[in-house]
This record gives sequence, C-alpha cells and structure tokens, in this order.
Amino acid sequence: MRRPFIAGNWKMNLNRAEAVALAQAVAEEAKNVDYADVAVCVPFVYVDAVAQAVKGTNVGVGAQDCYFEKNGAFTGEISVEMLKDLGCQYVILGHSERRHVIGEDNELTCKKVKAVLSGGLIPILCVGEMLAQREAGETDDVNAEQFYGSLAGVSAEDMKKVVIAYEPVWAIGTGKVATPEQAEETHANLRKIIAVRYGQDVADAVRIQYGGSMKPDNAKELLDQPNIDGGLIGGAALKAASFMGIVTAAKK
Ligand code: PEP
Repeated sequence: MRRPFIAGNWKMNLNRAEAVALAQAVAEEAKNVDYADVAVCVPFVYVDAVAQAVKGTNVGVGAQDCYFEKNGAFTGEISVEMLKDLGCQYVILGHSERRHVIGEDNELTCKKVKAVLSGGLIPILCVGEMLAQREAGETDDVNAEQFYGSLAGVSAEDMKKVVIAYEPVWAIGTGKVATPEQAEETHANLRKIIAVRYGQDVADAVRIQYGGSMKPDNAKELLDQPNIDGGLIGGAALKAASFMGIVTAAKK
C-alpha cells in the first residue's frame, strides 16, 4: 500500500565530479526500478549539478537542510525557494547530526518542516533516540517528543506528504544496525503516535524509513517488516553498487 522510498544521505562528502558521477551511476542503475521511489540528498553546493545529472530519470534530488525564511539577511542560509529553483524535491530535516552536532531543536526543525511543506517540497523528518535513552526504555517517548515538537501545527493533509525517518542515533554510521524486531516495534509505535494525532488513515499513508547502518546485506530483513517503508542511507549511499543493493532489497 505504501510505496517504498529509498533515499541516500551523502552528508558532507564527495567533490563535484564525484557527486555527478555517483548520481549518473545511480540513475543508470535505477532506470528499471518501478517498485520504489529513489532519491539522493546531496550537499547544497552540488544540488544544481546533481539535479541536472538526473533530470528526466526516476531519481529524485534532495537537500540535507534548509532555512525557514523565504529570503533576506540570513548569512549562510539556503531557502526552500532556492532549492526548488535548482530542482530539489526533498529536504532532510532534524537529522541527528543537526540535532546533536549543530544543536538544532524541535522548534527550529518545526519551522523548517512548515517552510518545506508550504514551498511544495517533501520533508524527510528524522527522529530517533540515543543509546542511553534506548537502554533506559525511553525510545518511544523520545520519538514522540521529537514527532510532536517538530510537527506542531502541521495539518493532517500536509502530514500525509511528510516522510518520517526513524534513525536510532547509536546506529548511525556505527555499523550497529537495529534488529528487524527492534526497528519494526519502534516503527509500529511511531505509526500509533501518528494515528493518535492525525487518525488512522493518515498513519496508514505516511512512509516511515529506517536509517542507521543499513547495508545491502541487512536491508532485506529490515525492509520486509510491515511498518518499514524504506531507508535513509548514509555510508552505503556513497557507492552506486551498495546503494542500489539496498534499492533492490525494497522490491516486494
Ligand atoms: C544517516 O546519516 O542518515 C545514516 C543512516 O547513516 P548510516 O547509513 O551511515 O548509518
């Protein structure tokens, strides 16, 4: 019922030539993929070149952040309008590296989510607990707090367009992947939180990606879970072969 969605998060990696070559390789290998949405979320400075490289293919382009104001005196920031202008369709927001390294909070993330939605782009909103929080049994509370805080005031109609990425912080870039059972339980609980806030029809429509050391060899058992609707892929998205190995694993 929910179409799988596999997105690469290239983070702060690659140079321009490498970014274009990787995008072209993904587009070439994804040309017969009709069972999933595929996107690459690239550094701001390569959005233009990557969008041109994948133009007319079935690979979408995303950014990894944005600012919530339309324009003005916001030195160093990039607006939704600017991203749209370059052909961007998705924006990752609230990634754990933004929350825990840069220090962004729910309030700021929420403003960005609303700006992305009102600009007609699709936010990929990341939520997830740290290791100590999982060990203390706080996973669902942390996810609920990030969910409510980052989506405060978002309408049910807009919520249907939002993609949630559940990314346990302890699994990001560490090689420690959540077990399919751990991930499925948390995704199912997230879907319940969506249902409580927005109703079951919205909860049934929202795609929830898993992110955190997903690789070709562990992707299938994760993506086969009923509440896991795709993946947000970091390290394994930096090579076309490993990224496409995960895309292929999304085929039902
Ligand atoms: C991420 O940063 O979104 C991510 C999931 O990274 P990795 O796949 O490298 O754990």
